[in-house]
Amino acid sequence: MAAERKYQRILLKLSGEALGGQGFGIDAQTVQRIAAEVKRVHALGVEIAMVIGGGNMWRGADAAATGIDRATADYVGMLATVMNSLVMQDAMEKHGMATRVQTAIEMPPVAEPFIRRRAVRHLEKGRVVILAAGSGNPFFTTDTAAALRAVELNAQVLLKATKVDGIYDDDPVKNCYARKFDEIGYMQALNMGLKVMDSTALSLCKDNNMPIIVFNLQQEGALEAIMRGEKCGTLVSK
Ligand code: UDP
Repeated sequence: MAAERKYQRILLKLSGEALGGQGFGIDAQTVQRIAAEVKRVHALGVEIAMVIGGGNMWRGADAAATGIDRATADYVGMLATVMNSLVMQDAMEKHGMATRVQTAIEMPPVAEPFIRRRAVRHLEKGRVVILAAGSGNPFFTTDTAAALRAVELNAQVLLKATKVDGIYDDDPVKNCYARKFDEIGYMQALNMGLKVMDSTALSLCKDNNMPIIVFNLQQEGALEAIMRGEKCGTLVSK
């Protein structure tokens, strides 16, 4: 079994949009498909922590542009990530996985608070840990929360699921000549101002040598291929 997997512990970052078939809200079928995909990786014995965004419901910066106080808008965004996390937990438990949701903002009737050592214990026991409410701080993103948790929990890699199969030098949807990177350095990604991950998240990964793999979750089997050590998506490192 061990020979089939390259990683023992991963942090999987899903954007809120990944859950919302057509972009907004939550699409039940999409959530089920993701849960099935995660289960196949879990069955390899990989310890899985997840961070889920909230952009399918709310983005603080967009809401602030309409006149809402930015910090307030960001707290609403963090609550959106809790909704997504609970829905994902439900789907994963229905697929037979043991899971725990931990929130960066305490809400005991809903989920455990984020306690690093307890999260690690859950992972060691084979429970999938879903880390909700981002970092708990406004003016941050769930990408940054994912980078932070990946480092804190000693994950070997941060897997960033997107709708494209890696990082390109231009938008591949708009430019058919856009070139895909198989690998790219942290500094290069930062200097290019790539939209795939914000600079705070990239810097945190760079400072802590946390490799990032950007891949397409809609591509069936991509996650398993990465676990087997196959080249898939774009590796950001060094
Ligand atoms: N957010 C925040 N602090 C965090 C994480 C998220 O304030 O540590 C808020 C922020 O307003 C953000 C929203 O939650 O716009 C949803 O998160 P994000 O935009 O990262 O979701 P994604 O794009 O991954 O779906």
